[in-house]
Amino acid sequence: MNAVEKKRIVVKVGTSTLTHKTGKTNIARMAKLASVLADLHNMGNEVVLVSSGAIGIGYTKLGLKKRPETIKGLQAAAAIGQSELMFLYDKFFGEYGVVVSQLLFTSDALRRSDGKKHLIDTFNQLFEYGSIPIVNENDSVSVEELSSGDNDSMSANVATLINADILILLTDTDGLYDSNPNENPDAQLIHTVEKITPEIESVAGGAGKNGTGGFITKVNAAKHAVSNGIPVVVTNGKKPTDIYKILNGEQIGTRFVAK
Ligand code: GLU
Repeated sequence: MNAVEKKRIVVKVGTSTLTHKTGKTNIARMAKLASVLADLHNMGNEVVLVSSGAIGIGYTKLGLKKRPETIKGLQAAAAIGQSELMFLYDKFFGEYGVVVSQLLFTSDALRRSDGKKHLIDTFNQLFEYGSIPIVNENDSVSVEELSSGDNDSMSANVATLINADILILLTDTDGLYDSNPNENPDAQLIHTVEKITPEIESVAGGAGKNGTGGFITKVNAAKHAVSNGIPVVVTNGKKPTDIYKILNGEQIGTRFVAK
């Protein structure tokens, strides 16, 4: 990517990328992700991070053995984890002199024209101030998103709202496979999706493992973004430096071509 060509880049990261199997924070991964995004920011790009992880980090911090099952339990865990999540991002991005900001909202704010306008103004002002906005759902008021675990759709909404050049979804699989790779050793990674057909949707419905959203929410998010002219790449978040390759147009993960 040309360093002087300014791009609006939205990166969404799921809980499975930010935590270890123990449920505890994957500190090295978070630090690496922050360094890549801070670097892209330093090149002159406008970067937004949509980050899950509040519930996961919250219940682990509380010492609970597993994720709460009630809505209020999830909301309380998110309230605890969100501040820890931002503390860590502030620390990691701060090491590179990058100021982060926290935006918590729900999709119904985007359904209101005043809500939409205020959000666009806030994003633009933050870009002008040179900050990297970090977005999550406002879990203490969003029952809708909590139950579907859908920061994927939130990221497509954000990308559309700010007219992003690309949306990158980081998850725990290498991309979309033509059949479930956990069940079929011959499953092939689909490199490019020109059109989201019912076949693609049905393949996505059977995939996805650790993330709350699974793959269908990623395909739905991609559908929303590509219909607004925004290309989407879904890839494994274990190597945050792959983001450079994606921006260079290299074949990484599954790329959904914009209409
Ligand atoms: N907002 C939730 C959290 O931060 C995650 C929802 C999702 O996984 O998409 O834990």
